Amino acid sequence: MQLRHLTINGFKSFADKTEIDFVSGLTGIVGPNGSGKSNITEAIRWTLGEQSAKSLRGEKMGDVIFAGTATRPPLNRAEVTMTFDNSDGYLPNQPAEVTVTRRLFRDGESDFLINKQNVRLKDIIDLFMDSGLGKESFSFISQGRVEAVFNSKPEDRRAILEEAAGVLKYKQQKNKAQAELKETQDNLDRVSDIVAELH
Ligand code: ATP
Repeated sequence: MQLRHLTINGFKSFADKTEIDFVSGLTGIVGPNGSGKSNITEAIRWTLGEQSAKSLRGEKMGDVIFAGTATRPPLNRAEVTMTFDNSDGYLPNQPAEVTVTRRLFRDGESDFLINKQNVRLKDIIDLFMDSGLGKESFSFISQGRVEAVFNSKPEDRRAILEEAAGVLKYKQQKNKAQAELKETQDNLDRVSDIVAELH
């Protein structure tokens, strides 16, 4: 699986529709300070399901929408589409070309799409969870993160390795199942209390 193309429209400093092709091998993005290099990686993380406005250097999620400049009015919508070459079938049960789109309007309405079909945010997160491309994955190392990884607690470092090894998904499913079991046990306890009271 390879990221082939990125379309950014109205996201942060990208007021105009901007198309970026990624060819095989290594792609470097260069430009002066403040020209929008980090905004490109943030557009990718956002599309993959980032839910924290702070980690996108904003206060609220609406801050990702182009806020206007002295010469240009703000926009009402941010939209980013990532196109993947999936001809190796890396993403299971998906076509040879996979597109993922996230859209946000200033009134808070948002859309998530896989292959132009509306889906839930959870579907996008699930699609990439085991791919090494999840929004929290080791694939994104932003400025300052290298030191943070080295200085992090062993448990946090372990979580990074678990995501890389594809264990995280099962761990989350296990936690969910355990929470459901506990809820069921609480209900059973409540029922036996009532039964005991009735006797
Ligand atoms: P550096 O090399 O200093 O790290 P960079 O090339 O990574 O810089 P970014 O941090 O990606 O640059 O871009 C910062 C620019 O994006 C700033 O000029 C900022 O005003 C602009 N910007 C951020 N959010 C918005 C927004 N919502 N609307 C318009 N412009 C925005």
